[in-house]
Amino acid sequence: MYQSMWPDVLPRAGNRRLEKLASLSPWFEIYRVSEGVFAMLEPGHAEEAISYLIIGSKRAVLLDTGMGIADLKAEVNRLADLPVVVVVTHGHYDHIGDNHRFSEVWAFGSDSDVARIEQGKSREECTGYMAPGCYLELPAGFDPAAYEIRPSRVTRRLQHLEVIDLGRRTLTVHHTPGHTADSICLMDSRDKLLFTGDTFYPGMLFAHFEDSDFAVYRRSIDYLVDLLPGVNHLCPSHNEAYVEKTALIRVQAAFEQIVADNAACEIEGKVRVYRFDGFGLMVPDWN
Ligand SMILES: [Zn+2]
Repeated sequence: MYQSMWPDVLPRAGNRRLEKLASLSPWFEIYRVSEGVFAMLEPGHAEEAISYLIIGSKRAVLLDTGMGIADLKAEVNRLADLPVVVVVTHGHYDHIGDNHRFSEVWAFGSDSDVARIEQGKSREECTGYMAPGCYLELPAGFDPAAYEIRPSRVTRRLQHLEVIDLGRRTLTVHHTPGHTADSICLMDSRDKLLFTGDTFYPGMLFAHFEDSDFAVYRRSIDYLVDLLPGVNHLCPSHNEAYVEKTALIRVQAAFEQIVADNAACEIEGKVRVYRFDGFGLMVPDWN
């Protein structure tokens, strides 16, 4: 739930409920979420990033490309014999690491959001992500000191409420800013899965980054709660791949409690850390 509990919580309860498939690289854990939807986890790094492969009849979407520590494209090619389009939930490094291996990368956001994705991150910028204790056994041949996010090209800009047709399945883009300005969620038509990116996962949610906005984040949670009547389950981008949709209602209540100054928190530097049942929230300390 919180990073301090990693790696003792592995494999997490929500993932143990899913069918586990074989992977080419031991770095990935692959679970079947539903027919044609696969969660690709990287539990060996404390971020516990999750990418999703969503397969239609004429093409597949790979939602995020994870840390870039092992070859995600090889796993994708084994599962999908169709053209694959990468869709980026937002531009943080742990969601775009393998973008460079793909020829089609679609993203939402402003010129600067897209530039951040395309630029990647240098070794120097990435050193903190590979500090000792952040990871378990790394794939053979991977050098943590050489870790970087390689540049990639965004080939198409997504629009709010755009519908991506995969054949027998569509994904609708919902702009849900707050964690970052460019954060999106995807709604799947066939299994009513809501892919929530970093806007929601069962863990510590981040509304305190320089590129975050707490008030905007709160409105996005309200927006997602309004979608819930048409949702069966949530598929977040960290920790657990299949979460009860009622979790979003608890997040909405948590935001309300924080705004009403009605929730206990710890102050860590300039950040308030709130802990709730099944998730937490880090927000700037306004005082
Ligand atoms: Zn993020």
